[in-house]
Amino acid sequence: MKENVVILGAGIAGLSAGYRLSEASIPLTIIEKESIIGGMSSCFKYKDYTLDYGPHKIFTRMDDIMEKIRNLIGKDLLTVPKKSRIRLSGKYYNFPVGVKELLTGMPFTGLSCGMGYMLAAMKAMIIKSNDDSYEEYIINRFGKGTFNLVFKPYAEKIWGHPGELSASLAKSRVAIPSIAELVIRMVSGNSNKPAISADVFYYPKNGVIEISEKLAEKIEAKNKSILNKTVPVQIDTQSNMVTVRNETGQTSVKYSSIISTIPIDELINLLKPKAPDTVILASKSLKHRNLVLIYMVIKQPRLFEDSFIFYPEEKYIFNRLSEQKGFSEFMISGNKTVLCVEITCAENDEKWNASDEVLFKKAIEGLKDVEIIGPDTEIEEYFVKRLTNAYPVYAINYQQNLEVILDFLDSLGNIYVVGRQGIFNYCGMADAMDMGFTAAEQIISEGNGFAWKDRRKKFENYVTVD
Ligand SMILES: Cc1cc2nc3c(=O)[nH]c(=O)nc-3n(C[C@H](O)[C@H](O)[C@H](O)COP(=O)(O)OP(=O)(O)OC[C@H]3O[C@@H](n4cnc5c(N)ncnc54)[C@H](O)[C@@H]3O)c2cc1C
Repeated sequence: MKENVVILGAGIAGLSAGYRLSEASIPLTIIEKESIIGGMSSCFKYKDYTLDYGPHKIFTRMDDIMEKIRNLIGKDLLTVPKKSRIRLSGKYYNFPVGVKELLTGMPFTGLSCGMGYMLAAMKAMIIKSNDDSYEEYIINRFGKGTFNLVFKPYAEKIWGHPGELSASLAKSRVAIPSIAELVIRMVSGNSNKPAISADVFYYPKNGVIEISEKLAEKIEAKNKSILNKTVPVQIDTQSNMVTVRNETGQTSVKYSSIISTIPIDELINLLKPKAPDTVILASKSLKHRNLVLIYMVIKQPRLFEDSFIFYPEEKYIFNRLSEQKGFSEFMISGNKTVLCVEITCAENDEKWNASDEVLFKKAIEGLKDVEIIGPDTEIEEYFVKRLTNAYPVYAINYQQNLEVILDFLDSLGNIYVVGRQGIFNYCGMADAMDMGFTAAEQIISEGNGFAWKDRRKKFENYVTVD
């Protein structure tokens, strides 16, 4: 059914879907609530500076997606050497932590963590242990010492209690090898480099929004429009009509299929007839973490050489620092740098509700303690951005709840959910693009013998490359 595909959301997933459909000359309408495109991988202007919502590095092992990004951005795609560190117990270490460091006793704590890792390794070879939670998964592979020092505080800061988080979070986001992988590397002599770590990343010269802009240009070149500042208010699944609203009023659009990238619980709430109570309940159980970004304009060329620096320890309000100039020097004019301080919050917690002034003051205390700013550092000004729904929380039972929702949507036959919030998948940009292309391909090929349920299985296996 290809008469008119309605795409909800003009983030990178929705635009990728739109791009592929427009290539195949399929009529489409993209509905976007904001005045700009790009969603989380957009940029904004502040005075002479162009800034990401937390700098976004591009790296993927999916060659076809990387090729598409290269074709879209052309010579403006910069290759940036990657350097990241983590601060633990008053010292900085390279990140991700190498296997040698783990085996030789994690220099920052003496032998205890390394021994724990060795014991966990030996135990894992003998006994098949339960990996029900993030906590169990990590302890079974790295031992309690390393868990308590690194993984526990980091998880608590970003996602919540590690005992209540799903093991799949660790599988997709921990850039340190499993025991089996470790043994293979020791045998092959390549013992220090995590397979899901890279030495470089890619970045568009004028900001990550360039990818979305290029996708939108291609869509618009085919006379397909993106309706900004427009929201869906109802999806009638019997008449296949989406009612949308914008400044000029309300109108209805006929759809043959919908590709949705808006938060999955919002989508469920739009449906008429109503989704079954079990589905509504399951959608309400999926939680997110919010993010506060403090941007500080500093009167000096750079503060550090790293792409990112991570701070798991509780005493610091922030969990990550970066400078936009570490991604592209073309985005910040003059002899200044803009520091981005990331503070992850639970919905409505103390940090989320704190004033900009309080957050800034706490950030400054921490920045002095970690020696990023000193007595001579001149902060010209600062400003704060708040993002809701920044991180999907992979709670222990999230997969069962998600399956309840997805099974129901599958039963409707023509609604495809993709993207970070769309299908509640803790993915990066390349993954979001892949999901958009896959949904478009499903519509173009009318499945080509593949059920959507089977095709979307691959979304569960995306792995972050640090
Ligand atoms: C701080 C941070 C740093 C990150 N860093 C990286 C990185 O370094 N590398 C990387 O690859 N990935 C990174 N990511 C992840 C990346 O941003 C996402 O994977 C990607 O942007 C997801 O794209 P999407 O299209 O699925 O979702 P979104 O970008 O959320 O797009 C959804 C779109 O839908 C719109 N929308 C929402 N609700 C409605 C509605 N009701 N009606 C109409 N429109 C609606 C939104 O405005 C948005 O435009 C980072 C994410 C965060 C939060």
